[in-house]
Amino acid sequence: MARVAVVTGGTRGIGRAICEQLQSEGYTVLASYAGNDAAAEKLKAETGIASYKFDVGDHAACQDACTQIAADIAPVDVVVNNAGITRDGTLHRMSFDDWNEVMRINLGGCFNMAKACFPGMRERGWGRIVNIGSINGQAGQYGQVNYAAAKSGIHGFTKALAQEGAKSGVTVNAIAPGYIDTDMVAAVPEPVLEKIVAKIPVGRLGQAGEIARGVSFLCSEEAGFVTGSTMSINGGQHMY
Ligand code: NDP
Repeated sequence: MARVAVVTGGTRGIGRAICEQLQSEGYTVLASYAGNDAAAEKLKAETGIASYKFDVGDHAACQDACTQIAADIAPVDVVVNNAGITRDGTLHRMSFDDWNEVMRINLGGCFNMAKACFPGMRERGWGRIVNIGSINGQAGQYGQVNYAAAKSGIHGFTKALAQEGAKSGVTVNAIAPGYIDTDMVAAVPEPVLEKIVAKIPVGRLGQAGEIARGVSFLCSEEAGFVTGSTMSINGGQHMY
């Protein structure tokens, strides 16, 4: 039976590319999303991939959704924690809500989905969790203390959970994308974006498919010895 992969925020951008990549490799793929029904319907119409609407920052909703997926199809073998938001602003302008919401969704979402799926993966002796971090969680970014902290937290979360899954065939890894051509980056003002691209050694934004192929490798059988790692896919913008 095909492995079941859930991609949070899988209806648009990087998540959609991940869904299509995993589907092309034979996984049964399901996407989650927050509220954009049109994008979910478009995904379904164009690829046949079904989606579940729930807030990854809501602990109980994640538990319920994963229970529902197990009942509808089969237990989840692969979780790609991709859903994320930005609420940018310098610290003196950032509200406590902006801080909390980014932590709740970007970092809390990883915890919530892992709580729902990791125990079953361990019991069955196989699983893959891939968490989408960010170059800005590695390097920091002006106006993003919330986002940089949440994404940096994802990298710590990944290394800690990897240690808990290693003996049970469950790998946990992260990908830290650089600037990728999606709606999230389209929201960055053009003059700022030009300055960003000028600092990318390969001289362009990344494509969502380039992140998806990294995810594909980390989910594969061949990547069974890779755990607790962060794969940077950023056009050479940040190396360490
Ligand atoms: P998009 O804004 O294009 O898409 C975000 C997706 O996440 C949508 O499907 C959205 O659903 C979903 N989502 C948002 N909030 C929630 C929530 N509370 N619960 C469930 N789903 C939610 O993002 P990108 O494709 O650009 O980014 C994907 C990931 O990659 C994010 O984690 C982002 O931080 C990270 N990243 C992106 C970079 C980039 O340059 N684009 C760079 C580095 C990291 P809906 O459509 O319903 O709103």
